[in-house]
Amino acid sequence: MVNLVGLRWLRRYHRLVLWIVSISLIPTITLLGFSYYQAISTARSELKKATEQSSRKLSELIRAADLTLRELEIYLENFEGTEQAAWQLLQQIAYNDPRFREVGIVDEQGYLVATSLGPVEPPIAIKSKTRADLSRREIQIVGPVTTSVMQQRSLVLALPTQGQGELNVLIDPTLLQDFWTALGEQDLGQEGFLVYVDQHHEKIIAGVGLVPRRAETLLAPASRDRIQVRYPVDETDIVIVGEISKGWALRHWERLLITVAPVVLGTSLLVFAALTRFTYFTQLLDYDIRIGLKNREFELYYQPIFDLVANTCIGAEVLIRWKHSYQGLILPGVFIPIAEKTGLIVEMGDWVLQKAAVGCSELLADYPNLYISINLSPVQITSYQNAQAFYEKLKEHEAVTPHLMFEITETSLAETGQEAIPKTLKRIHSLGAKIALDDFGTGFCGINYLSQFSFDYLKIDRTFTCACETTSNLSTALDGMIDLAKRFEANLIAEGIETEKQRQTLLDKGIQFGQGWLYAHPMSLAEFKQFLSLQAGIAKDVGFPSSKVQ
Ligand code: C2E
Ligand code: MG
Ligand code: MG
Repeated sequence: MVNLVGLRWLRRYHRLVLWIVSISLIPTITLLGFSYYQAISTARSELKKATEQSSRKLSELIRAADLTLRELEIYLENFEGTEQAAWQLLQQIAYNDPRFREVGIVDEQGYLVATSLGPVEPPIAIKSKTRADLSRREIQIVGPVTTSVMQQRSLVLALPTQGQGELNVLIDPTLLQDFWTALGEQDLGQEGFLVYVDQHHEKIIAGVGLVPRRAETLLAPASRDRIQVRYPVDETDIVIVGEISKGWALRHWERLLITVAPVVLGTSLLVFAALTRFTYFTQLLDYDIRIGLKNREFELYYQPIFDLVANTCIGAEVLIRWKHSYQGLILPGVFIPIAEKTGLIVEMGDWVLQKAAVGCSELLADYPNLYISINLSPVQITSYQNAQAFYEKLKEHEAVTPHLMFEITETSLAETGQEAIPKTLKRIHSLGAKIALDDFGTGFCGINYLSQFSFDYLKIDRTFTCACETTSNLSTALDGMIDLAKRFEANLIAEGIETEKQRQTLLDKGIQFGQGWLYAHPMSLAEFKQFLSLQAGIAKDVGFPSSKVQ
């Protein structure tokens, strides 16, 4: 049973709940999203810094080698000294810069003819794939190769000479790994790497970390679970590619989450509680009314109005009822003020008008002199647009308009103090409808309004009806109101007649019309039809009360 109620509750409010939960989760999602983005972008920028620095250092090295080899070329072209002096020079170059391992001279046939150790006898043929591209007169990186001279894996920085030979220096490939210092203490994780790729030959020339075997995979974009950065080395075909796994980049973030999770979830819970409270007290009813309108949960009840003299029913006031899907019947006093506040009363009022007009025309088929009274909220006609829209809607029911009466409460008129309202009431009146001032005596604006607009009916509020048989101030006030109605030539309807004694007193005071539990409680249309038929023939005899067209 509880589950069933819960299920129905959830079905009705699931959108609202979803809205509250989504809003409450915003702090959590924002913080998670922001810190996630921060962790990824920090890792990316550190990786970028490392590749940038490696690129800069490699550029410096290449520039130094280029300068040295160009100087050597000029020197060798003009060389006139002894062989010994030449070897000394080569040794100077090889050993003065700790980054260089060895210097070599390759002749135009592609034979290594000399190193700093002296002439190579016999000269060693250099394999074509480890030779520089002679068509480009610029320094190039070749390798890594295991040279016959050093018997070590080396990178060759080679400068093609004018005579189609080549001057080169060898460097240790691990030197490039030392360039990678920008990451500081941070490493690349188990799956990360930083590699120097020769794009021209699609070859990895050096790297650190879990270096992939194939260069092509590096030249393609990285998979989504990895962070990749690429940085070119100036004036070379080399690009430095750095990659780490996202899991590694997020390792601190995951730790941070564990510590901040209670704070973040706490904030979300607070927002949830505040929103739920706010919604419960201010928005729930409004939301509920919208659902009610959509689900056609509203109904019109009819409370008969009687001619007290002839004791015949002359019509009925339609009163809205809300048959809430699980709260049961809700009276208008609960939801009308909210609907007025939010403006939903306009939609609701349109529905009431439509439904009442249809009900009225059904009743008129059997009881052609009957009239139906409809409560009108000032909100429905306050703004020019609303008033115009209401007027147009009413025109659609012109067949029944002379059998309609609109009740507007004195209190609401006093509160809104709208000057436009009398004008709109006159327009509605001009279509043949009657206008009544509801709850007359409670709004303290009677005389003011009575002079601006002549109402067809004044509906005496229930409090005065209750007091009519007493000698209280209210009873005296009632006499004043009766007097006032006479002066303004308005008919009086007494509301809330509950006892025969009240009816008699009101009759004695000259009040002709009334409604109340003494006659009937509000009822459904079907019940009202039955009610009328029980009054057999009575209603047919009663004429529509006289109207005053203004
Ligand atoms: P109202 O227009 O003054 O309607 C009379 C109220 O008095 C109704 O309450 C009715 O049920 C109640 N009543 C009738 N006879 C007796 C009686 O003998 N004794 C007592 N104690 N009460 C009696 P209800 O239906 O709860 O409506 C309350 C108010 O809600 C209405 O007062 C009216 O101002 C407003 N209302 C009702 N339906 C609509 C509607 O469709 N549109 C708008 N804008 N307001 C509506
Ligand atoms: Mg009323
Ligand atoms: Mg009333």
